[in-house]
Amino acid sequence: MPELPEVQTIADALAPLIIDQTITYARIGWPGVIDRPEPALFAEGVVGRRVTEVGRRGKYMLFRLDDGRWLVMHLRMTGEMRVVSAIAPLDKHEHLVFGLEDGTEWRFRDPRKFGRAYLVDSPQAVVGALGPEPLSAAFTTAHLEKALAGRRAPIKSLLLDQRLVAGIGNIYADEALYRARIHPLTEGGALDASEREALVGSIRAVIQQALLEMGTTLRDYRRPDGSVGHFQNSLQVFRRTDEPCPSCGAPIRRIVVGGRSTHFCPVEQVQRDHD
Ligand SMILES: [Zn+2]
Repeated sequence: MPELPEVQTIADALAPLIIDQTITYARIGWPGVIDRPEPALFAEGVVGRRVTEVGRRGKYMLFRLDDGRWLVMHLRMTGEMRVVSAIAPLDKHEHLVFGLEDGTEWRFRDPRKFGRAYLVDSPQAVVGALGPEPLSAAFTTAHLEKALAGRRAPIKSLLLDQRLVAGIGNIYADEALYRARIHPLTEGGALDASEREALVGSIRAVIQQALLEMGTTLRDYRRPDGSVGHFQNSLQVFRRTDEPCPSCGAPIRRIVVGGRSTHFCPVEQVQRDHD
């Protein structure tokens, strides 16, 4: 599933291909892809509009239109975006297609059909409840202290809660906890000050590095030009079960936390006892 670095990479690649272009038609191959408003109103609302700005918040892509409204999209599990010639054969998984004035088509492809598109007056309607961006000044140890106070859930699960911090998913949660040497089952409220500081630092470092490497391609994720990311070569624990820990050599362990596959070093990420 695309996380912050993948979504940012896709948004950055799309921007020069769609900014300042007018959407000449919209083809909705599968109406379920439109979250709001209803598909006919959605199509009516985007056609004739020019894209003026491309951004990202958490795992959402934000496209500002020239009437001030926003097209918001979430790729979920398998969503992909590309801009191709309008005469390129349509793939059966390309559920949403925007014609652009230069004769290209901006296509949203999503085999698993969990991705969604929203047309809203303000992005806040969709992303308003998200926590701070991990690379923003608002993501601090003080924020983490407040957000984790009294929380009994495992820190791994809490990191996936987009209200705590936006844009982190399974890959970067495991990698950040490893780098901070925190056991994934540690209760959120049990982290001490030095652990919270280590975690803020490791989240920032992992996200920054993954952005530079244009994301992680394990299976589905592709950049809009079809190329892959590179951070999969920098993964220390994620999907490396039984391989040696890069730091101490112990075999990486896999457990399931909150239904999600979780990877850690059993020697360096030790679960402390609390009373
Ligand atoms: Zn280790």
